[in-house]
Amino acid sequence: MKGLAILGATGSIGLSTLDVVARNPGRFAVRALTAGRNWQRLLEQCRQFRPAVAVLLDPAAAAQLEAAVRAEGLAVEVQAGAEALAAAGARPDVDYVMAAIVGAAGLLPTLAAARAGKRILLANKEAVVMAGNLLLEALAASGGELLPIDSEHNALFQCLPPGRDRDSDGAGVTRLLLTASGGPFLDTPLAALEEVTPAQACAHPNWEMGRKISVDSATMMNKGLEIIEACRLFGVPVARVGVVVHPESIIHSLVEYRDGSMLAQLGNPDMRTPIAHALAWPERMPSGVEPLDLAARGSLNFRPADPARFPCLALAMQAAAGDAGAPVVLNAANEVAVAAFLAGRVRFTAIAAIIDAVLAQYTDSAPADLESILALDAHSRDAAEEKIRTLAL
Ligand code: NAD
Ligand code: MG
Repeated sequence: MKGLAILGATGSIGLSTLDVVARNPGRFAVRALTAGRNWQRLLEQCRQFRPAVAVLLDPAAAAQLEAAVRAEGLAVEVQAGAEALAAAGARPDVDYVMAAIVGAAGLLPTLAAARAGKRILLANKEAVVMAGNLLLEALAASGGELLPIDSEHNALFQCLPPGRDRDSDGAGVTRLLLTASGGPFLDTPLAALEEVTPAQACAHPNWEMGRKISVDSATMMNKGLEIIEACRLFGVPVARVGVVVHPESIIHSLVEYRDGSMLAQLGNPDMRTPIAHALAWPERMPSGVEPLDLAARGSLNFRPADPARFPCLALAMQAAAGDAGAPVVLNAANEVAVAAFLAGRVRFTAIAAIIDAVLAQYTDSAPADLESILALDAHSRDAAEEKIRTLAL
């Protein structure tokens, strides 16, 4: 039995993870579940999975969970706050940590788990974009390991030669090719993008995800963050990472080799496949995902990404080519801009403009440690808020 902690248990990835765990009884013991403030859903999960500890960031929500847990006589310790959250994945009875908090908020808990030598199942791409090198250094020092959950990076991991995921050059790899669905606005007339609503932006054609990543998919900043994630995780320069639009989301990414071979990983678009892969690795176990019926599919389509439609992609490439601070700035500005769009404060098309303005202010000064990364993140958030105030809806 492997002890499991899920950071972000009540979100889309958290739910899929628990679904996979429930399908494989006897393999995993859920020791810790954490969330932001959704205590009702966390209570349901406590009933079903009986973790040793349940942590909520929000103290008021934690008090409600605590009362409910007591009333039901569940043997679950309830904790609150950022410190308890970071401690959850570092517990001695935990072997595997699903890092599935959304945004920069996931960085410290993920880093704590990395320092404690755990197997990190990494969905929280923002943590890698901000501090990928720190995470990898912490894992190397502690003897922990990282398995990518993002479907593209999980696909790349599966298509790279075993054990060569940090030495792809020596293994004859020429390029990593990320597929992108193009999101809900792939064929929307450009002029109509000004008026799209948060509900439209969150209605992804292939994947059911949290609201932030859904908006990122609509702007294609998600692919931009994933380019940076691929550079960090697999140790390749941005020039060797490509993007192709593939609207069906059946091929999850490809590795191109020197001899002309391209290896791809395919499957139905369901995050339970990469989650089960990373939980069982190097074995394989059931995920609940139906096998792909290629004949029923008939065809798969590909096209280049249109830079006029997806300006966020170029901004991310620019940040990926810059120093280690540029992705921190990009990510912070994007988080603030997306939250403002979801709150109805700015238009969809303002997201790229806000990020562009904040990135333009950044004068290279690569942060050398965690404190300077967090300071740059905070400063960039302020700069993004300032830009938003100048943009009347
Ligand atoms: P979500 O919004 O559905 O869930 C987020 C989870 O994090 C929830 O449990 C929430 O309570 C918790 N949370 C939010 N803010 C928090 C905070 N400040 N402190 C502590 N906990 C907090 O998001 P999601 O779609 O599950 O995505 C999670 C991460 O996985 C993101 O980084 C996303 O980019 C990545 N990811 C998601 C998918 C997907 O299919 N959903 C695919 C690939 C990668
Ligand atoms: Mg992805």
